[in-house]
Amino acid sequence: MPALLPALFLGHGSPMNAIEDNAFHRAWLALGRRLPRPRAILCVSAHWQTRGATVSAAPQPATIHDFHGFPRELFAVRYPAPGDPALAARIAGLVRGVPVAVDPDRGLDHGAWSVLRALYPEADVPVLQLGLDTTRPGAWHYALARELAPLRAEGVLVLGSGNIVHNLGLYEFDSEAQPAWAVGFRERTNALLLAGDHGPLANPATLGPEAALAVPTPEHYLPLLYALGVQQPGDRVELFNDVVTSAVSMTSVLLEPAT
Ligand code: ZN
Repeated sequence: MPALLPALFLGHGSPMNAIEDNAFHRAWLALGRRLPRPRAILCVSAHWQTRGATVSAAPQPATIHDFHGFPRELFAVRYPAPGDPALAARIAGLVRGVPVAVDPDRGLDHGAWSVLRALYPEADVPVLQLGLDTTRPGAWHYALARELAPLRAEGVLVLGSGNIVHNLGLYEFDSEAQPAWAVGFRERTNALLLAGDHGPLANPATLGPEAALAVPTPEHYLPLLYALGVQQPGDRVELFNDVVTSAVSMTSVLLEPAT
């Protein structure tokens, strides 16, 4: 019986975190040195939105620069990790609750590569992505993620990439502010994460008066539910990069089998 892989949710924040030497990037580098080498990575990113569930199956996924107004250095980044079409087919067959389409062409968006280039700089671990249907409620995503749980025993690292608090309408660049509503929402969600209390987390609108400000749109929050959905009894829950900057939280979650 192979060991269970950890599961992860990473707050990715600004695309610049991919190339800046800052505390977030350094934490990703340190995590990469600590994580086992997976057979493959299944990433659920805020930045690939689909209708229904779709898994990417390109043998050599392109690096997608899905942002504007950033330095050329960021557009020059390539993350040439291979795909794994056979594993994509396996995932499509594993999920019973909803149909899973297979996209043979999709590349890697910055929600995936901005963190993966720090975790696995050699880009030698196959990466697949699962699209996010933001028209579906949290419970739909959590149930889908539960069906992915067996992948952890097959050497697959499940990685959600988003931000638990993410309100770009209120975001002030370079601000050190920590608004009370964002800190309050972080405290509430952190307590539930550490308690393993997923029911309320799967329905963020119920998480108090700050929820409307913290999760004005669902795409950055929902990837969290994929890490939680594959959580197993006995996993140790570790929070890191647990920082609010303006209207974004970088709080990240490592779920690791207790040894
Ligand atoms: Zn993002």
